[in-house]
Amino acid sequence: MEAQLLGEALARAGRIVAFTGAGISTESGIPDFRGPQGVWTKVDPSDFTLDKYVASAEHRARIWRMRIERAAVDYLPNAAHRALVDLERSGTLDCIVTQNIDGLHQKAGSTAVLELHGSTRSIVCLDCRRQLPAEHAYARIEAGETDPHCVYCGGILKSGTVSFGESLPEDVIEEAFFRARQCDLCLVIGSSLVVHPAASIPLEAARAGARLAIVNHEPTPLDDLADPVVRASAGEVLPAAVALAEELRAR
Ligand code: NAD
Ligand code: ZN
Repeated sequence: MEAQLLGEALARAGRIVAFTGAGISTESGIPDFRGPQGVWTKVDPSDFTLDKYVASAEHRARIWRMRIERAAVDYLPNAAHRALVDLERSGTLDCIVTQNIDGLHQKAGSTAVLELHGSTRSIVCLDCRRQLPAEHAYARIEAGETDPHCVYCGGILKSGTVSFGESLPEDVIEEAFFRARQCDLCLVIGSSLVVHPAASIPLEAARAGARLAIVNHEPTPLDDLADPVVRASAGEVLPAAVALAEELRAR
């Protein structure tokens, strides 16, 4: 029933922007932040601020070790990521705007992906802003360094993800707002919609006249603006909804 309503909404749309959060990747085994099993039930968010990172070499060493452990696990895209690939191939998905840093949309085969919070695939020097593949830092750590610094300027290196206290990549966020204003359906999947400015993107789409559809386990601040609101697992409902939309469009 829920997949039905969502499928009908997708079938009627001509230009869709999908807005995804950590919830689309939980079925791949990556915990979200604010769900009942979320990361914030186990660690303190203040551990992930830029200030703390810059202040302590010991803290940086701990974060690098955590990154390396994570990178060693080969997380795979799930049925929800794959459904968005199908939607892109059908020609109605304009792009995916994601808050995720896990790269699973690209790994599934999506090509138009805007990463609002950066990605773990790259690292950046906090001084000269040069970017390098993450493997550069990982290799140096494996070779014995605990807190590698920039080979060009000596600055502190950090994962290419956006920490608390750090601003979002301006060009990406601007592009995301632009796409949101142009779409006729904004499909929110697995986001608590409380982290701003990212969460303002679906709101901007709605204000510009787009329909809003939400797939999320828990209520969000934008539920009142959305139709349908689907309280189900992304990996279950999305493949069915996308398949139904294809079927309806083919009629
Ligand atoms: P969030 O943790 O605040 O919210 C996730 C939401 O998804 C929750 O409301 C939860 O109920 C719902 N959910 C969980 N599994 C679901 C499923 N299978 N189907 C449907 N709904 C499901 O996440 P957010 O809104 O993305 O914001 C948090 C921040 O977390 C972002 O800034 C992001 O960068 C970061 N983050 C990213 C990852 C990742 O890359 N996979 C993981 C954790 C956190
Ligand atoms: Zn540098």
